[in-house]
Amino acid sequence: MAQQEKVFQVTPISPGIAIGKTLRIGGSHIIDRVEERYISEGDIQSELDKFHTVLDLTKQSVRDLKDKLKDKLVSSEAEIFDTHLMILEDMALINDIERLIKSQLKSAEFAIYEASEHYVKVLEEISDPYLRERAADVRDVRSRVLENFHQNEGNSLEEKIVDRRIVIADELTPSETAHLPAEKVLGFAVNIGSPTSHTAILARSMRMPAVVGMPPEIMALDPDTEIIIDGFAGRLIVNPDKRTLEAYSLKAREANEFYSSLLEEAELLAETRDGFLVQLGGNIEKLEDVTELKKAGGEAVGLFRSEISFLAAGEPPTEDEQFELYKNLLSSMDGKMVVVRTLDIGGDKLNDSVFRHQEQNPFLGLRGIRLCLKAKQDIFRTQLRALLRAGVYGDLKIMLPMLTSVREIVEVKKIIEELKVELKNEKLDFTGKVSIGAMIETPASALLVDHIAPLVDFLSIGTNDLVQYTMAIDRSNDLVTYLYQPANPAILELIGRTVLAAKENNIWVSVCGQMASDPLYTPLLLGLGVNELSMDPASLSIIRRVIRSLKMSEAEYLASEALKCKSSVDVRKMSVELLRKTVPEIADLIIMQNER
Ligand code: PEP
Ligand code: MG
Repeated sequence: MAQQEKVFQVTPISPGIAIGKTLRIGGSHIIDRVEERYISEGDIQSELDKFHTVLDLTKQSVRDLKDKLKDKLVSSEAEIFDTHLMILEDMALINDIERLIKSQLKSAEFAIYEASEHYVKVLEEISDPYLRERAADVRDVRSRVLENFHQNEGNSLEEKIVDRRIVIADELTPSETAHLPAEKVLGFAVNIGSPTSHTAILARSMRMPAVVGMPPEIMALDPDTEIIIDGFAGRLIVNPDKRTLEAYSLKAREANEFYSSLLEEAELLAETRDGFLVQLGGNIEKLEDVTELKKAGGEAVGLFRSEISFLAAGEPPTEDEQFELYKNLLSSMDGKMVVVRTLDIGGDKLNDSVFRHQEQNPFLGLRGIRLCLKAKQDIFRTQLRALLRAGVYGDLKIMLPMLTSVREIVEVKKIIEELKVELKNEKLDFTGKVSIGAMIETPASALLVDHIAPLVDFLSIGTNDLVQYTMAIDRSNDLVTYLYQPANPAILELIGRTVLAAKENNIWVSVCGQMASDPLYTPLLLGLGVNELSMDPASLSIIRRVIRSLKMSEAEYLASEALKCKSSVDVRKMSVELLRKTVPEIADLIIMQNER
Protein backbone atom coordinates (compact mmCIF):
# COMPACT_ATOMS: atom_id res chain seq x y z
CA MET A 1 0.00 0.00 0.00
CA ALA A 2 1.23 3.48 -0.87
CA GLN A 3 2.52 5.47 2.11
CA GLN A 4 0.49 8.47 3.15
CA GLU A 5 1.60 11.95 2.08
CA LYS A 6 2.89 14.12 4.91
CA VAL A 7 3.50 17.86 4.66
CA PHE A 8 5.89 19.73 6.98
CA GLN A 9 6.24 23.49 7.29
CA VAL A 10 9.92 24.48 7.17
CA THR A 11 11.93 27.65 6.53
CA PRO A 12 12.93 28.36 2.91
CA ILE A 13 16.54 29.50 2.46
CA SER A 14 17.06 29.07 -1.28
CA PRO A 15 14.24 29.26 -3.84
CA GLY A 16 13.33 26.37 -6.11
CA ILE A 17 11.66 22.99 -6.14
CA ALA A 18 13.42 19.63 -5.77
CA ILE A 19 11.67 16.29 -6.20
CA GLY A 20 13.52 13.04 -5.55
CA LYS A 21 14.83 10.38 -3.25
CA THR A 22 16.92 11.24 -0.22
CA LEU A 23 20.52 10.82 0.66
CA ARG A 24 21.23 11.12 4.32
CA ILE A 25 24.51 12.65 5.33
CA GLY A 26 24.89 11.41 8.84
CA GLY A 27 26.91 14.20 10.31
CA SER A 28 30.13 12.21 10.02
CA HIS A 29 31.58 15.21 8.24
CA ILE A 30 31.08 17.52 11.15
CA ILE A 31 33.59 16.21 13.61
CA ASP A 32 32.19 16.96 17.05
CA ARG A 33 34.52 14.97 19.21
CA VAL A 34 38.02 13.55 19.14
CA GLU A 35 39.81 11.03 21.29
CA GLU A 36 41.47 12.59 24.34
CA ARG A 37 44.98 11.34 23.61
CA TYR A 38 48.31 12.30 25.20
CA ILE A 39 51.79 11.85 23.79
CA SER A 40 55.22 11.36 25.33
CA GLU A 41 57.81 14.15 25.37
CA GLY A 42 59.83 12.40 22.70
CA ASP A 43 56.90 12.67 20.27
CA ILE A 44 56.43 16.45 20.56
CA GLN A 45 58.34 17.29 17.39
CA SER A 46 56.69 14.63 15.26
CA GLU A 47 53.25 15.72 16.55
CA LEU A 48 54.06 19.37 15.69
CA ASP A 49 55.20 18.27 12.21
CA LYS A 50 52.02 16.27 11.77
CA PHE A 51 49.96 19.31 12.74
CA HIS A 52 51.75 21.58 10.25
CA THR A 53 51.56 19.05 7.41
CA VAL A 54 47.81 18.69 7.89
CA LEU A 55 47.41 22.46 8.23
CA ASP A 56 49.21 23.04 4.92
CA LEU A 57 47.18 20.31 3.25
CA THR A 58 43.94 21.88 4.44
CA LYS A 59 44.97 25.37 3.28
CA GLN A 60 45.80 23.97 -0.13
CA SER A 61 42.46 22.17 -0.37
CA VAL A 62 40.57 25.38 0.55
CA ARG A 63 42.51 27.27 -2.15
CA ASP A 64 41.74 24.51 -4.67
CA LEU A 65 38.07 24.60 -3.80
CA LYS A 66 37.99 28.39 -4.15
CA ASP A 67 39.61 28.10 -7.60
CA LYS A 68 37.21 25.39 -8.65
CA LEU A 69 34.19 27.48 -7.71
CA LYS A 70 35.47 30.90 -8.68
CA ASP A 71 33.33 31.19 -11.81
CA LYS A 72 30.20 30.08 -10.01
CA LEU A 73 30.47 32.49 -7.10
CA VAL A 74 30.37 36.26 -6.84
CA SER A 75 33.11 37.86 -4.78
CA SER A 76 31.07 38.12 -1.58
CA GLU A 77 30.44 34.38 -1.70
CA ALA A 78 34.03 33.46 -2.50
CA GLU A 79 34.92 35.32 0.68
CA ILE A 80 33.76 32.33 2.66
CA PHE A 81 36.97 30.65 1.60
CA ASP A 82 39.02 33.69 2.55
CA THR A 83 37.41 33.51 5.98
CA HIS A 84 38.42 29.85 6.19
CA LEU A 85 41.96 30.66 5.13
CA MET A 86 42.12 33.43 7.70
CA ILE A 87 41.13 30.97 10.43
CA LEU A 88 43.75 28.50 9.20
CA GLU A 89 46.38 31.23 9.30
CA ASP A 90 45.34 32.72 12.64
CA MET A 91 48.56 32.92 14.63
CA ALA A 92 46.81 33.08 18.00
CA LEU A 93 45.02 29.82 17.25
CA ILE A 94 48.18 28.16 15.85
CA ASN A 95 50.15 29.22 18.94
CA ASP A 96 47.45 27.84 21.22
CA ILE A 97 47.54 24.48 19.46
CA GLU A 98 51.35 24.32 19.57
CA ARG A 99 51.29 25.21 23.25
CA LEU A 100 48.84 22.42 24.06
CA ILE A 101 51.07 19.94 22.22
CA LYS A 102 54.32 21.16 23.76
CA SER A 103 53.36 21.93 27.34
CA GLN A 104 50.34 19.73 27.96
CA LEU A 105 51.45 16.82 25.75
CA LYS A 106 48.16 16.64 23.94
CA SER A 107 48.01 14.83 20.61
CA ALA A 108 47.81 17.12 17.58
CA GLU A 109 44.18 16.19 16.94
CA PHE A 110 43.16 16.71 20.54
CA ALA A 111 45.01 20.04 20.71
CA ILE A 112 43.35 21.27 17.51
CA TYR A 113 39.97 20.29 18.83
CA GLU A 114 40.45 21.89 22.20
CA ALA A 115 42.00 25.16 21.08
CA SER A 116 39.33 25.74 18.43
CA GLU A 117 36.53 24.75 20.80
CA HIS A 118 37.50 27.72 22.94
CA TYR A 119 37.04 30.02 19.92
CA VAL A 120 33.71 28.41 19.07
CA LYS A 121 32.40 28.98 22.60
CA VAL A 122 33.47 32.63 22.65
CA LEU A 123 31.90 33.33 19.25
CA GLU A 124 28.67 31.54 20.16
CA GLU A 125 28.15 33.87 23.08
CA ILE A 126 28.36 37.07 21.04
CA SER A 127 25.00 38.76 20.48
CA ASP A 128 25.81 39.97 16.95
CA PRO A 129 24.23 37.24 14.73
CA TYR A 130 26.90 37.71 12.05
CA LEU A 131 29.75 37.03 14.44
CA ARG A 132 27.82 34.23 16.11
CA GLU A 133 27.58 32.48 12.77
CA ARG A 134 31.37 32.59 12.45
CA ALA A 135 31.40 29.88 15.13
CA ALA A 136 30.08 27.56 12.41
CA ASP A 137 33.03 28.59 10.20
CA VAL A 138 35.53 27.69 12.91
CA ARG A 139 33.81 24.32 13.41
CA ASP A 140 33.76 23.74 9.68
CA VAL A 141 37.46 24.51 9.31
CA ARG A 142 38.29 22.31 12.29
CA SER A 143 36.41 19.41 10.71
CA ARG A 144 38.36 19.87 7.49
CA VAL A 145 41.65 19.81 9.36
CA LEU A 146 40.68 16.79 11.46
CA GLU A 147 39.37 14.97 8.41
CA ASN A 148 42.76 15.35 6.82
CA PHE A 149 44.24 13.22 9.59
CA HIS A 150 42.13 10.36 8.25
CA GLN A 151 42.35 11.18 4.60
CA ASN A 152 42.27 7.69 3.25
CA GLU A 153 39.87 6.15 5.69
CA GLY A 154 36.56 6.87 4.01
CA ASN A 155 34.85 8.18 0.94
CA SER A 156 34.52 11.90 0.38
CA LEU A 157 31.12 13.53 0.21
CA GLU A 158 31.38 13.76 -3.56
CA GLU A 159 32.04 10.04 -3.84
CA LYS A 160 29.17 9.19 -1.51
CA ILE A 161 26.61 10.77 -3.81
CA VAL A 162 26.16 8.34 -6.65
CA ASP A 163 22.90 9.41 -8.27
CA ARG A 164 20.60 12.45 -8.31
CA ARG A 165 19.29 12.85 -4.78
CA ILE A 166 18.02 15.36 -2.24
CA VAL A 167 20.56 15.66 0.55
CA ILE A 168 19.17 15.57 4.07
CA ALA A 169 21.36 16.28 7.08
CA ASP A 170 21.22 17.63 10.59
CA GLU A 171 23.54 20.41 9.47
CA LEU A 172 25.66 21.23 6.42
CA THR A 173 28.74 23.35 6.82
CA PRO A 174 29.56 25.95 4.13
CA SER A 175 32.40 23.90 2.72
CA GLU A 176 30.28 20.75 2.63
CA THR A 177 27.66 22.77 0.76
CA ALA A 178 30.28 24.07 -1.66
CA HIS A 179 31.43 20.48 -2.22
CA LEU A 180 27.97 19.23 -3.11
CA PRO A 181 28.18 18.21 -6.77
CA ALA A 182 25.50 20.36 -8.41
CA GLU A 183 24.93 17.80 -11.16
CA LYS A 184 23.96 15.15 -8.60
CA VAL A 185 22.31 17.11 -5.80
CA LEU A 186 18.74 18.24 -6.50
CA GLY A 187 18.52 20.29 -3.33
CA PHE A 188 18.92 19.93 0.39
CA ALA A 189 17.02 20.02 3.66
CA VAL A 190 18.73 20.44 7.00
CA ASN A 191 17.60 20.67 10.56
CA ILE A 192 19.95 23.39 11.83
CA GLY A 193 20.62 26.63 9.98
CA SER A 194 19.34 30.11 9.25
CA PRO A 195 18.58 32.20 6.16
CA THR A 196 21.59 34.45 6.83
CA SER A 197 24.16 31.67 7.19
CA HIS A 198 26.94 31.14 4.69
CA THR A 199 25.38 27.79 3.84
CA ALA A 200 22.21 29.59 2.75
CA ILE A 201 24.20 32.17 0.75
CA LEU A 202 26.01 29.37 -1.06
CA ALA A 203 22.82 27.43 -1.75
CA ARG A 204 21.30 30.50 -3.39
CA SER A 205 24.36 31.19 -5.51
CA MET A 206 24.52 27.54 -6.58
CA ARG A 207 20.79 27.82 -7.41
CA MET A 208 20.13 24.83 -5.22
CA PRO A 209 16.66 24.70 -3.63
CA ALA A 210 17.05 24.41 0.13
CA VAL A 211 15.13 24.56 3.42
CA VAL A 212 16.10 24.55 7.09
CA GLY A 213 14.13 23.52 10.15
CA MET A 214 13.64 19.99 8.81
CA PRO A 215 12.00 17.80 11.47
CA PRO A 216 14.56 15.30 12.85
CA GLU A 217 12.27 12.35 11.95
CA ILE A 218 13.13 12.92 8.28
CA MET A 219 16.63 11.62 9.04
CA ALA A 220 15.10 8.24 9.83
CA LEU A 221 13.38 7.86 6.44
CA ASP A 222 14.16 4.94 4.19
CA PRO A 223 16.56 6.33 1.53
CA ASP A 224 14.16 5.32 -1.22
CA THR A 225 11.40 7.51 0.16
CA GLU A 226 10.40 10.21 -2.27
CA ILE A 227 10.28 13.77 -0.94
CA ILE A 228 9.69 17.26 -2.31
CA ILE A 229 11.31 20.38 -0.99
CA ASP A 230 9.67 23.68 -1.81
CA GLY A 231 12.23 26.45 -1.33
CA PHE A 232 9.59 29.11 -2.09
CA ALA A 233 6.77 28.28 0.30
CA GLY A 234 8.95 26.50 2.86
CA ARG A 235 7.44 23.05 2.62
CA LEU A 236 8.84 19.56 2.88
CA ILE A 237 6.53 16.83 1.59
CA VAL A 238 7.17 13.15 2.30
CA ASN A 239 5.60 10.48 0.06
CA PRO A 240 3.79 12.98 -2.17
CA ASP A 241 0.66 11.57 -3.80
CA LYS A 242 0.09 11.64 -7.57
CA ARG A 243 -1.69 15.00 -7.59
CA THR A 244 0.95 16.70 -5.47
CA LEU A 245 3.68 15.26 -7.65
CA GLU A 246 2.05 16.55 -10.82
CA ALA A 247 1.50 20.00 -9.33
CA TYR A 248 5.09 20.21 -8.12
CA SER A 249 6.58 18.91 -11.36
CA LEU A 250 4.81 21.73 -13.12
CA LYS A 251 5.99 24.24 -10.52
CA ALA A 252 9.58 23.02 -10.90
CA ARG A 253 9.42 23.43 -14.69
CA GLU A 254 7.99 26.91 -14.35
CA ALA A 255 10.68 27.88 -11.85
CA ASN A 256 13.41 26.81 -14.25
CA GLU A 257 11.90 28.69 -17.16
CA PHE A 258 11.34 31.71 -14.96
CA TYR A 259 14.91 31.97 -13.74
CA SER A 260 16.41 31.50 -17.19
CA SER A 261 14.12 34.13 -18.66
CA LEU A 262 15.13 36.58 -15.93
CA LEU A 263 18.75 36.41 -17.00
CA GLU A 264 17.78 37.99 -20.31
CA GLU A 265 15.95 40.91 -18.72
CA ALA A 266 18.78 42.65 -16.85
CA GLU A 267 19.04 45.34 -19.55
CA LEU A 268 15.34 46.21 -19.54
CA LEU A 269 13.93 49.28 -17.82
CA ALA A 270 11.92 48.89 -14.64
CA GLU A 271 8.85 50.47 -16.23
CA THR A 272 5.21 49.68 -15.51
CA ARG A 273 2.87 48.72 -18.36
CA ASP A 274 1.43 52.22 -18.29
CA GLY A 275 4.81 53.91 -18.55
CA PHE A 276 5.94 54.77 -14.99
CA LEU A 277 9.64 54.37 -14.41
CA VAL A 278 11.05 53.15 -11.12
CA GLN A 279 14.74 53.34 -10.31
CA LEU A 280 16.27 50.06 -9.16
CA GLY A 281 19.28 50.41 -6.91
CA GLY A 282 21.47 47.97 -5.04
CA ASN A 283 22.29 47.62 -1.37
CA ILE A 284 25.96 46.79 -1.16
CA GLU A 285 28.67 46.66 1.43
CA LYS A 286 31.90 46.32 -0.48
CA LEU A 287 33.50 47.71 -3.60
CA GLU A 288 33.59 44.23 -5.18
CA ASP A 289 29.78 43.98 -4.98
CA VAL A 290 29.55 46.53 -7.81
CA THR A 291 30.28 43.79 -10.36
CA GLU A 292 27.25 41.75 -9.37
CA LEU A 293 25.12 44.87 -9.11
CA LYS A 294 25.96 45.88 -12.68
CA LYS A 295 25.44 42.33 -13.97
CA ALA A 296 21.94 42.35 -12.49
CA GLY A 297 21.16 45.69 -14.18
CA GLY A 298 21.33 47.86 -11.04
CA GLU A 299 21.00 51.54 -11.95
CA ALA A 300 22.53 52.98 -8.78
CA VAL A 301 23.93 52.15 -5.40
CA GLY A 302 20.88 52.93 -3.29
CA LEU A 303 22.57 52.02 -0.02
CA PHE A 304 26.25 51.56 0.71
CA ARG A 305 26.47 50.25 4.28
CA SER A 306 29.71 52.06 5.11
CA GLU A 307 29.95 50.61 8.61
CA ILE A 308 30.84 47.19 7.24
CA SER A 309 34.36 48.39 6.38
CA PHE A 310 34.60 49.63 9.98
CA LEU A 311 33.38 46.34 11.40
CA ALA A 312 35.80 44.29 9.33
CA ALA A 313 38.85 46.26 10.43
CA GLY A 314 40.31 46.27 13.94
CA GLU A 315 40.72 50.05 13.99
CA PRO A 316 38.49 52.52 12.11
CA PRO A 317 39.87 53.06 8.59
CA THR A 318 41.86 56.29 8.15
CA GLU A 319 40.58 59.27 6.15
CA ASP A 320 42.78 58.32 3.20
CA GLU A 321 41.68 54.69 3.28
CA GLN A 322 38.06 55.75 3.29
CA PHE A 323 38.69 58.34 0.58
CA GLU A 324 40.19 55.61 -1.65
CA LEU A 325 37.25 53.30 -1.02
CA TYR A 326 34.55 55.90 -1.76
CA LYS A 327 36.48 57.26 -4.74
CA ASN A 328 36.80 53.77 -6.26
CA LEU A 329 33.17 53.08 -5.56
CA LEU A 330 32.06 56.26 -7.34
CA SER A 331 34.43 55.69 -10.25
CA SER A 332 33.31 52.09 -10.71
CA MET A 333 29.67 53.22 -10.95
CA ASP A 334 30.53 55.41 -14.00
CA GLY A 335 28.70 58.53 -12.89
CA LYS A 336 25.62 56.72 -11.62
CA MET A 337 24.25 57.67 -8.24
CA VAL A 338 25.94 56.26 -5.13
CA VAL A 339 24.23 56.72 -1.76
CA VAL A 340 26.71 56.23 1.06
CA ARG A 341 25.13 55.84 4.43
CA THR A 342 27.27 57.28 7.20
CA LEU A 343 28.46 55.03 9.97
CA ASP A 344 25.56 53.06 11.45
CA ILE A 345 27.38 51.35 14.30
CA GLY A 346 25.55 50.34 17.47
CA GLY A 347 22.50 48.11 17.86
CA ASP A 348 23.67 44.69 16.76
CA LYS A 349 26.59 46.11 14.75
CA LEU A 350 29.48 46.58 17.08
CA ASN A 351 33.15 47.27 16.75
CA ASP A 352 35.24 47.32 19.88
CA SER A 353 37.58 50.04 18.75
CA VAL A 354 34.70 52.40 17.94
CA PHE A 355 32.18 51.40 20.54
CA ARG A 356 33.39 50.11 23.87
CA HIS A 357 30.64 50.50 26.39
CA GLN A 358 27.93 47.92 26.91
CA GLU A 359 24.29 48.92 26.76
CA GLN A 360 21.30 47.06 28.16
CA ASN A 361 19.18 47.83 25.13
CA PRO A 362 21.64 48.45 22.30
CA PHE A 363 18.94 48.92 19.65
CA LEU A 364 17.57 51.78 21.74
CA GLY A 365 20.98 53.13 22.59
CA LEU A 366 23.76 55.16 21.08
CA ARG A 367 23.35 53.90 17.52
CA GLY A 368 23.94 55.47 14.07
CA ILE A 369 23.77 59.25 13.96
CA ARG A 370 23.52 59.45 17.78
CA LEU A 371 26.87 57.75 18.23
CA CYS A 372 28.38 59.93 15.51
CA LEU A 373 27.18 63.20 17.00
CA LYS A 374 27.43 62.42 20.70
CA ALA A 375 30.34 60.09 21.35
CA LYS A 376 32.41 59.70 18.22
CA GLN A 377 32.35 63.00 16.40
CA ASP A 378 36.04 62.64 15.54
CA ILE A 379 35.36 59.41 13.63
CA PHE A 380 32.28 60.94 12.02
CA ARG A 381 34.19 64.05 10.90
CA THR A 382 36.90 61.86 9.38
CA GLN A 383 34.28 59.93 7.42
CA LEU A 384 32.57 63.11 6.20
CA ARG A 385 35.92 64.59 5.11
CA ALA A 386 36.67 61.42 3.13
CA LEU A 387 33.23 61.57 1.54
CA LEU A 388 33.47 65.25 0.59
CA ARG A 389 36.87 64.61 -1.00
CA ALA A 390 35.64 61.53 -2.88
CA GLY A 391 32.51 63.37 -4.04
CA VAL A 392 34.36 64.92 -6.99
CA TYR A 393 34.60 61.46 -8.61
CA GLY A 394 30.91 60.86 -9.24
CA ASP A 395 27.33 61.37 -8.15
CA LEU A 396 27.67 61.05 -4.38
CA LYS A 397 24.81 61.31 -1.93
CA ILE A 398 25.31 61.15 1.82
CA MET A 399 22.60 59.48 3.87
CA LEU A 400 22.08 59.79 7.63
CA PRO A 401 20.84 56.76 9.62
CA MET A 402 18.70 56.51 12.77
CA LEU A 403 17.41 60.06 12.76
CA THR A 404 14.84 60.97 15.38
CA SER A 405 14.99 64.75 15.28
CA VAL A 406 15.38 67.75 13.00
CA ARG A 407 18.21 68.99 15.16
CA GLU A 408 20.41 66.03 14.20
CA ILE A 409 20.22 67.05 10.54
CA VAL A 410 20.95 70.67 11.34
CA GLU A 411 24.00 69.61 13.33
CA VAL A 412 25.34 67.40 10.55
CA LYS A 413 24.90 70.17 8.00
CA LYS A 414 26.79 72.55 10.25
CA ILE A 415 29.64 70.06 10.60
CA ILE A 416 29.76 69.60 6.83
CA GLU A 417 30.07 73.36 6.31
CA GLU A 418 32.90 73.49 8.85
CA LEU A 419 34.68 70.62 7.12
CA LYS A 420 34.42 72.35 3.75
CA VAL A 421 36.24 75.35 5.19
CA GLU A 422 38.88 73.02 6.65
CA LEU A 423 39.39 71.23 3.34
CA LYS A 424 39.59 74.52 1.48
CA ASN A 425 42.25 75.82 3.87
CA GLU A 426 44.18 72.60 3.36
CA LYS A 427 43.90 73.10 -0.41
CA LEU A 428 42.35 69.68 -0.87
CA ASP A 429 39.87 68.94 -3.65
CA PHE A 430 36.30 68.35 -2.48
CA THR A 431 32.74 68.62 -3.70
CA GLY A 432 31.12 71.89 -2.69
CA LYS A 433 27.56 70.75 -3.34
CA VAL A 434 26.77 67.37 -1.88
CA SER A 435 23.27 65.93 -1.54
CA ILE A 436 22.17 64.95 1.95
CA GLY A 437 19.44 62.40 2.54
CA ALA A 438 17.52 61.34 5.62
CA MET A 439 16.83 57.73 6.43
CA ILE A 440 13.31 57.39 7.68
CA GLU A 441 13.58 54.35 9.89
CA THR A 442 12.20 55.43 13.24
CA PRO A 443 8.58 56.33 13.97
CA ALA A 444 9.79 59.75 15.17
CA SER A 445 11.43 60.58 11.85
CA ALA A 446 8.36 59.39 9.93
CA LEU A 447 6.08 61.53 12.08
CA LEU A 448 8.42 64.53 11.76
CA VAL A 449 8.92 64.04 8.06
CA ASP A 450 7.16 67.29 7.11
CA HIS A 451 9.88 69.14 9.02
CA ILE A 452 12.70 66.90 7.82
CA ALA A 453 11.95 66.87 4.09
CA PRO A 454 12.57 70.62 3.52
CA LEU A 455 16.08 70.20 4.97
CA VAL A 456 17.29 67.37 2.75
CA ASP A 457 17.68 66.35 -0.89
CA PHE A 458 16.07 62.91 -0.61
CA LEU A 459 14.46 60.47 1.77
CA SER A 460 15.09 56.76 2.08
CA ILE A 461 12.84 54.49 4.09
CA GLY A 462 14.68 51.85 6.07
CA THR A 463 11.84 49.41 6.60
CA ASN A 464 13.96 46.93 8.56
CA ASP A 465 14.27 49.36 11.43
CA LEU A 466 11.00 51.15 10.80
CA VAL A 467 9.20 47.83 11.37
CA GLN A 468 11.40 47.00 14.35
CA TYR A 469 10.78 50.28 16.14
CA THR A 470 7.13 50.70 15.18
CA MET A 471 6.11 47.15 16.08
CA ALA A 472 8.40 47.20 19.14
CA ILE A 473 10.16 43.96 18.21
CA ASP A 474 13.85 43.18 18.26
CA ARG A 475 14.61 42.37 14.63
CA SER A 476 17.03 39.59 15.58
CA ASN A 477 14.70 37.86 18.06
CA ASP A 478 13.18 34.67 16.57
CA LEU A 479 10.34 34.68 19.09
CA VAL A 480 8.77 37.81 17.65
CA THR A 481 9.41 37.22 13.95
CA TYR A 482 5.67 36.73 13.50
CA LEU A 483 5.24 40.44 14.29
CA TYR A 484 7.76 41.49 11.68
CA GLN A 485 5.04 42.79 9.37
CA PRO A 486 6.12 45.30 6.73
CA ALA A 487 2.55 45.34 5.39
CA ASN A 488 1.03 46.28 8.73
CA PRO A 489 -1.23 49.31 8.14
CA ALA A 490 0.74 51.14 10.86
CA ILE A 491 3.86 50.84 8.72
CA LEU A 492 2.02 51.71 5.51
CA GLU A 493 0.71 54.85 7.15
CA LEU A 494 4.27 55.94 7.98
CA ILE A 495 5.52 55.11 4.47
CA GLY A 496 2.55 57.00 3.00
CA ARG A 497 3.34 60.12 5.07
CA THR A 498 6.97 59.97 4.02
CA VAL A 499 6.15 59.72 0.33
CA LEU A 500 3.71 62.61 0.59
CA ALA A 501 6.28 64.83 2.29
CA ALA A 502 8.81 63.99 -0.43
CA LYS A 503 6.31 64.96 -3.14
CA GLU A 504 5.37 68.20 -1.44
CA ASN A 505 9.04 69.14 -1.19
CA ASN A 506 9.95 67.99 -4.70
CA ILE A 507 12.50 65.47 -3.57
CA TRP A 508 12.71 61.75 -4.34
CA VAL A 509 12.03 58.93 -1.96
CA SER A 510 13.30 55.39 -1.92
CA VAL A 511 12.84 52.24 0.12
CA CYS A 512 16.10 50.53 1.01
CA GLY A 513 14.94 48.01 3.61
CA GLN A 514 14.30 44.30 2.94
CA MET A 515 10.70 45.14 2.00
CA ALA A 516 11.98 46.52 -1.32
CA SER A 517 13.33 43.12 -2.32
CA ASP A 518 10.13 41.17 -1.64
CA PRO A 519 7.98 40.96 -4.80
CA LEU A 520 4.87 40.74 -2.68
CA TYR A 521 5.30 44.35 -1.64
CA THR A 522 6.38 45.80 -4.98
CA PRO A 523 2.87 46.86 -6.10
CA LEU A 524 2.18 48.33 -2.69
CA LEU A 525 5.36 50.46 -2.63
CA LEU A 526 4.86 51.63 -6.20
CA GLY A 527 1.25 52.47 -5.47
CA LEU A 528 2.26 54.47 -2.42
CA GLY A 529 4.48 56.55 -4.73
CA VAL A 530 8.02 55.39 -3.97
CA ASN A 531 10.51 56.47 -6.69
CA GLU A 532 13.35 54.07 -6.04
CA LEU A 533 13.63 50.54 -4.71
CA SER A 534 17.04 49.52 -3.44
CA MET A 535 17.78 45.90 -2.62
CA ASP A 536 20.34 43.09 -2.60
CA PRO A 537 21.52 42.67 -6.20
CA ALA A 538 20.20 39.08 -6.40
CA SER A 539 16.60 40.32 -6.10
CA LEU A 540 16.75 42.95 -8.86
CA SER A 541 15.59 40.76 -11.75
CA ILE A 542 12.51 39.45 -9.98
CA ILE A 543 11.42 42.91 -8.87
CA ARG A 544 12.03 44.26 -12.37
CA ARG A 545 9.79 41.54 -13.80
CA VAL A 546 6.99 42.37 -11.34
CA ILE A 547 7.19 46.08 -12.14
CA ARG A 548 7.07 45.41 -15.88
CA SER A 549 3.94 43.26 -15.47
CA LEU A 550 2.04 45.83 -13.49
CA LYS A 551 0.02 48.97 -14.20
CA MET A 552 0.56 51.94 -11.91
CA SER A 553 -3.21 52.39 -11.76
CA GLU A 554 -3.56 48.88 -10.26
CA ALA A 555 -0.77 49.57 -7.78
CA GLU A 556 -2.31 52.87 -6.70
CA TYR A 557 -5.70 51.26 -6.17
CA LEU A 558 -4.08 48.51 -4.07
CA ALA A 559 -2.23 51.08 -1.96
CA SER A 560 -5.34 53.16 -1.31
CA GLU A 561 -7.29 50.07 -0.24
CA ALA A 562 -4.38 48.80 1.86
CA LEU A 563 -4.29 52.03 3.84
CA LYS A 564 -7.88 51.32 4.92
CA CYS A 565 -7.11 47.79 6.16
CA LYS A 566 -6.91 46.86 9.81
CA SER A 567 -4.25 44.16 9.63
CA SER A 568 -1.28 43.00 7.61
CA VAL A 569 -3.13 39.77 6.81
CA ASP A 570 -5.72 41.71 4.78
CA VAL A 571 -3.04 43.73 3.01
CA ARG A 572 -1.06 40.61 2.13
CA LYS A 573 -4.20 38.93 0.84
CA MET A 574 -4.93 41.82 -1.53
CA SER A 575 -1.30 41.98 -2.63
CA VAL A 576 -1.27 38.25 -3.37
CA GLU A 577 -4.47 38.62 -5.42
CA LEU A 578 -2.95 41.41 -7.49
CA LEU A 579 0.20 39.40 -8.14
CA ARG A 580 -1.90 36.42 -9.20
CA LYS A 581 -3.63 38.68 -11.69
CA THR A 582 -0.59 40.55 -13.02
CA VAL A 583 2.08 37.85 -12.99
CA PRO A 584 -0.04 34.69 -12.94
CA GLU A 585 2.70 32.68 -14.59
CA ILE A 586 5.04 33.15 -11.64
CA ALA A 587 2.87 34.27 -8.72
CA ASP A 588 3.11 30.91 -6.95
CA LEU A 589 6.83 30.98 -7.31
CA ILE A 590 7.58 34.44 -6.05
CA ILE A 591 5.27 34.59 -3.07
CA MET A 592 7.63 33.47 -0.34
CA GLN A 593 6.06 32.44 2.95
CA ASN A 594 8.12 34.77 5.07
CA GLU A 595 5.47 36.00 7.50
CA ARG A 596 3.45 33.38 9.27
C1 PEP B 1 16.85 49.43 7.34
O1 PEP B 1 16.81 49.63 8.56
O2 PEP B 1 15.85 49.16 6.66
C2 PEP B 1 18.14 49.48 6.62
C3 PEP B 1 18.19 49.43 5.32
O3 PEP B 1 19.27 49.54 7.36
P1 PEP B 1 19.93 48.34 8.19
O4 PEP B 1 19.23 47.07 7.78
O5 PEP B 1 21.37 48.34 7.82
O6 PEP B 1 19.66 48.74 9.60
MG1 MG C 1 18.47 50.55 9.59
